[in-house]
Amino acid sequence: MKLPIDSLSVRVLSAPLREQVPMSFSALTERRSVLVTVGAGGVTGTGETWVNYPGWAWRERLATLDGLRPLLIGADAADPAALMSGLAARLHGVARQWGAPGPLWQALSGIDMAIWDLLGHVHGRPVADLLGNGTATATRVPAYGSGVGPTGVAELTERALELGLTAIKIKVGFGEETDLTTIRGVRAVAGPGLPVFADANQAWDPATARHMCTVLAEHGVAWFEEPLAGDRPDDLAALAAATGAAIAGGENVYGAPAYAELMTLPALAHVQPDPSKTAGISLSDEIGRMPGTAKLSPHCYGGAATLAASVHLVAAAPRPGWIELDLRENPLRTDVATGLGVGSDGFIPVPTGPGLGLTYDRRTLDRYT
Ligand SMILES: [Mg+2]
Repeated sequence: MKLPIDSLSVRVLSAPLREQVPMSFSALTERRSVLVTVGAGGVTGTGETWVNYPGWAWRERLATLDGLRPLLIGADAADPAALMSGLAARLHGVARQWGAPGPLWQALSGIDMAIWDLLGHVHGRPVADLLGNGTATATRVPAYGSGVGPTGVAELTERALELGLTAIKIKVGFGEETDLTTIRGVRAVAGPGLPVFADANQAWDPATARHMCTVLAEHGVAWFEEPLAGDRPDDLAALAAATGAAIAGGENVYGAPAYAELMTLPALAHVQPDPSKTAGISLSDEIGRMPGTAKLSPHCYGGAATLAASVHLVAAAPRPGWIELDLRENPLRTDVATGLGVGSDGFIPVPTGPGLGLTYDRRTLDRYT
């Protein structure tokens, strides 16, 4: 059955933050999200494209989605993976010339997510059931609390424990003293046993990374995410060989060949494509099935649709990892839609409704539009 796409619409959401979210490269001052809605034969699906950085990314995204519209209208939504790989191949040359594989993949990711939601509604089945062979789906997936430090360490750790979460990820790369204050702050609240991961957002040079991975490992940090500037597989392999560090990464990798190369890294414990940014649902699912030992733990720092997409992906993955749950305020994730929630055991039940399983609240959406 063919499903010719007949509409593409976008909605820009923003929500002011009471407190900035510090990152090792730049603070996030406002929550932003661009929802992408694709229609075919009277059915619609909604996805999200990542526009966290830079602050004007939403303007670029509107233009890019507008540019992609003529390629989408009339295209077949029945096989999203084939549609996305076809579009990526067709646009590869122009993206290279533009120097913008990132923005292009980010736009395609939002479209792809919308098409999977649409397809779920057409078939009356959750996205997780449509991925892979449709049999290896979990009913719940574990979530860790993300975004702890360098500010709000005790408060955010307490929030994670109150939610029942069974692991935490700290932000590092702010200098040794600050990073050690963060890990000590987490341990002071959560004790020595809680699994803790560390995300450097590519802040370290090789020598600093070797030192910090060794120092933080003494505090029981279980994985090191994007430890190196550039994050080239050879450099990561050298870091892992020198320190024994388990590596996580993938939120800034674009295209199937680059992910395939990353997956050859023996020290890669978790691969982290982002369904709203780098890989949509189609390529994220493919990455999770590539040869290797890394578990699929998608990057998720966006709204409700991205979190839902992550949950479906991990539920269907042959090597399921963790769901990233940002602990800081984000009404674009928590308030605009129902259908997703964390159980008291720290697991997120996989939505059983069609598509991504979200129901948007029109009034709340309008308020943030
Ligand atoms: Mg990260």
